[in-house]
Amino acid sequence: MMEHIRMLTRDIIPCWYELSWAAEHKGVILRVHKDFIRDTPPLSDEAPIIKSYQKQFKFGTFNAGFDRDFGFDGAFLHLGEKDGFVEFFVKLPAFHYFIDKPCERCEGTGKDKFDDGECLKCGGNGLEHRYEWQELRKVSACFSVFLMLAHYPEVETTAQFPQLMTVRTITDSGMHGGSLDGEYSLPLARWLASLPENYEIPEMTMVMRQAWEHMNKLSNMDAYQIWNSIASEHGWLNVNVPGDACGLHPAHGGEYDMEDGWGYKFGCHNVDRPDQQLCLLAGLAALHDRARKEINEL
Ligand SMILES: [Zn+2]
Repeated sequence: MMEHIRMLTRDIIPCWYELSWAAEHKGVILRVHKDFIRDTPPLSDEAPIIKSYQKQFKFGTFNAGFDRDFGFDGAFLHLGEKDGFVEFFVKLPAFHYFIDKPCERCEGTGKDKFDDGECLKCGGNGLEHRYEWQELRKVSACFSVFLMLAHYPEVETTAQFPQLMTVRTITDSGMHGGSLDGEYSLPLARWLASLPENYEIPEMTMVMRQAWEHMNKLSNMDAYQIWNSIASEHGWLNVNVPGDACGLHPAHGGEYDMEDGWGYKFGCHNVDRPDQQLCLLAGLAALHDRARKEINEL
């Protein structure tokens, strides 16, 4: 263990993992420092979290090693090592798409039976569509396991730049089934506070819209609900994605009270589905990419 407990919101701690956005391939890059890998005992595939996800969602084998594809059915693709980090590519699954079958409502004509308009179900193209939640949940569950494992590192890494944030996710069906929370580090919160009040980080919005439109191929008309804003001179970040006031915000209250000049905890509101969760994670990856260029202190 470290000699004293260092807190991400109060101390500058060398990076042990980070996220990045791979625009060309519509996915998240997870980078894990090799010192963290060396000092973290691999999770047993008998661990309760693994067993419970396998039982609930019928996932296959869990690969716990960082030297090959990681997670359920190896959903995080091992890319190799770069600059002291082992990199994984996490493709965001499309989950709402057309399939090659005539639409049941209009029998493939694309026209509404009762008036002259387009079929309300297929939007006029005559194809059936479907939702496929399994792959989304699998990717979400792999994040949930990794982020649990990486929440409190036992040892400091030799990375030359700071950890910008930590995130935790849950994977479940039903209400709040895609919840996530975390901490923005001291250097990240200072950087956020240096941005103008009401500023929108354009890289986050752009990436979240790309991620949303990629995953929700048939419901991308609500991408306008994707935005973020720095709420005040304190650098408090709010992020919104489609849903019922769905998004991330600074966590207030109790022990989580925020003080100026420090990092802070964030929480979520009404993140019910894994596509909303992964869209927010893509936004946090974009936040990493922007902030990493502009924060150098360690
Ligand atoms: Zn139709």
